[in-house]
Amino acid sequence: MLSSYKRSASALALQLKELGVADEQVLDVLERTPRHVFVDDVLKHKSYENTALPIGQGQTISQPYIVAKMTEVLLQIGVKGKVLEIGTGSGYQSAILAQLFDEVCSVERIKSLQWQAKRRLHSLDLYNVTMKHGDGWQGWSSKAPFAGIIVTAAAKTVPEALLSQLEDNGALIVPLGEQEQQLTLFVRKGSQFIEHRLAPVRFVPLVAGDII
Ligand code: SAH
Repeated sequence: MLSSYKRSASALALQLKELGVADEQVLDVLERTPRHVFVDDVLKHKSYENTALPIGQGQTISQPYIVAKMTEVLLQIGVKGKVLEIGTGSGYQSAILAQLFDEVCSVERIKSLQWQAKRRLHSLDLYNVTMKHGDGWQGWSSKAPFAGIIVTAAAKTVPEALLSQLEDNGALIVPLGEQEQQLTLFVRKGSQFIEHRLAPVRFVPLVAGDII
């Protein structure tokens, strides 16, 4: 990474630590991952700010604090192995997950974003992310079960397919709601799902319907 970007990435990691991200592994990966690679040229100067940024098609790259928190929750619960992400978007959250879990599966409904994300991950030598162009409401049944699932867009109701694709003791993290959204955690215990509300959040909607 260029030294100016490196300094910005270190400052961002420090800021996230001050905001309460405690997992050193997560902070380390955040610091080493070049977020500027995941945004357009005109926004690169803002890429290490702790904010969501537009990535085209009305979508956004998530705020680094939220990316770190969602990842940290998975690790705290003891999730290991294969994880699923719904909403590949820029590929930034996939890049973070790829450095902490063995295998990442990621579903995106907008083909052009998916292609761009794949190129970016390969440019960083991250090859353990498998991508699917499809509807995240359906999850990815042929790859299931997953130890962890992260949804990076807000769902009006819990996508039942995602709950069914969790392995036992697995965890689903999903923003629920429309204007008012709550980041919600579901932990599978056999046929039961234990629900915890984590924090109020603001994500783009998990669209129902056609893939494009
Ligand atoms: N994790 C991304 C966040 C992207 S924003 C990042 O780090 O950049 C959310 C993404 O979810 C968008 O790219 C949007 O196209 C996608 N999305 C919305 N509804 C979806 C659906 N039903 N299935 C799959 N992807 C969806």
